[in-house]
Amino acid sequence: MKKDSKRLRFVRARVCAGASSTAECALTVCDGRIEAIDRAAGLGTVDVDFGGRLVIPGAMDGHVHFDEPGFTHRETFATGTIAAAAGGVTTVIDMPCTSMPPVTDVASLDRKLKVIAPKASVDFALWAGVRGNDFALDHVRRSLQMLYSYGVRSIKTYLVSGMPTFEDLTRLQLEEVMRIAADIGLTVGVHAEDKRAVLEGVEREMHSGDREGPLAYARSRNAEAEAKGIATCIELAEKTGARVHIVHMACAEGVRLLRAARARGVSVTAETCPHFLAFTIDDFVRMGSLLKTAPVVKSAADRDALWEGVADGTIDMVATDHAPAQWPQEKQTGSIWTDYGGVPGVELLLPFLLSEGVAKGRIDLQRAIELVCAAPARIHGLESRKGGLQPGMDGDFVAIDPEQKWTVQADKLLTRQKYTPFEGMELTGMVMRTFVRGTEVFERSRGMLGAPVGQLVRPDHDSAA
Ligand SMILES: [Zn+2]
Repeated sequence: MKKDSKRLRFVRARVCAGASSTAECALTVCDGRIEAIDRAAGLGTVDVDFGGRLVIPGAMDGHVHFDEPGFTHRETFATGTIAAAAGGVTTVIDMPCTSMPPVTDVASLDRKLKVIAPKASVDFALWAGVRGNDFALDHVRRSLQMLYSYGVRSIKTYLVSGMPTFEDLTRLQLEEVMRIAADIGLTVGVHAEDKRAVLEGVEREMHSGDREGPLAYARSRNAEAEAKGIATCIELAEKTGARVHIVHMACAEGVRLLRAARARGVSVTAETCPHFLAFTIDDFVRMGSLLKTAPVVKSAADRDALWEGVADGTIDMVATDHAPAQWPQEKQTGSIWTDYGGVPGVELLLPFLLSEGVAKGRIDLQRAIELVCAAPARIHGLESRKGGLQPGMDGDFVAIDPEQKWTVQADKLLTRQKYTPFEGMELTGMVMRTFVRGTEVFERSRGMLGAPVGQLVRPDHDSAA
């Protein structure tokens, strides 16, 4: 250890990190990394006495749209990461498609980093992406190789996209991208709804009797359209050998397809989101555009199948797809078809799982930690530093009160946009204190603490460091 190293002592923490017990122990963090976890209180000064509080690894939200640079009227990296810290999320992975220019090569990634890095209150990694605009295979291969060297491990693609700045890929293009990604070692995230099914659905519903209702929008992107997209991804994963990750999965058939693919040994993982686990089409009809997302929430049977997948391991992880609209105008354009699709979520990821998952007995705390800590870290290649509390890993942890009841109020949330479909929901389980690499960044009664400390996380090649 260097002579001027900074060592911090955290005592009387009931640490729960995967398989470990919840007996009280002491954590030592040296230069931001866990040095030791031991039962004895140990010698030396005490920096933080948790007084027996439950302490878990900081959560990772593997799917956020913080919109900067380019769309900061919706969210900013500053407000997004502040909301993350308040929700016990110590690492976010930001999407490439909702910033300008989109992150498709090292130059655009560098430009984004310069803008966002000074503002980050929690650690972050970046997805890169491959879009249909000006698609050229040689350029894609070169860009992805360079991005990999830079530390990027996941790339986002679309089977159907509504964004002119980030167009979808054809099936053939996606297959080529997967072959390249398999060579390089990148995970290919896919927005998996079948384009043809969605376009036909939109055309059909635009001419239906209730074409302005949420139901028309929901029918245009139904479970069959999603399942077809997921089936395509699985088929291409099997064909190319790429590691494929289905983002924001929302239907029961997806869970069944995934289970069968895994049984055949196909390298495919999936995430779902709190809104798909919480709401159904009835809620969408009641709330309208407030709950408009793509994919859209589905039936109670779909929701129950997602919970089943979350509990039995078929669904690997939960992420929020945090994608706020400028509220209220972008959600009240006068038509369900042009209202912005997306909801904020990063601040509620961990409390939602603690409440609706753990407190309601659908999953245990270990499984919740796997879903929002270990699994996303593994899928995004950051497992040597994030997602657990073993010696050598970053000292990211959260003190929680699993019994504290509270009611979600949009105007109390720290995200830039003050709306949420979870408004009024009573949750059991509250984030009390959040630490990033040993530094306390959020405390429930005092709010955000100190200047932003977030850093870009790169996969750790040098595990002896
Ligand atoms: Zn998204």
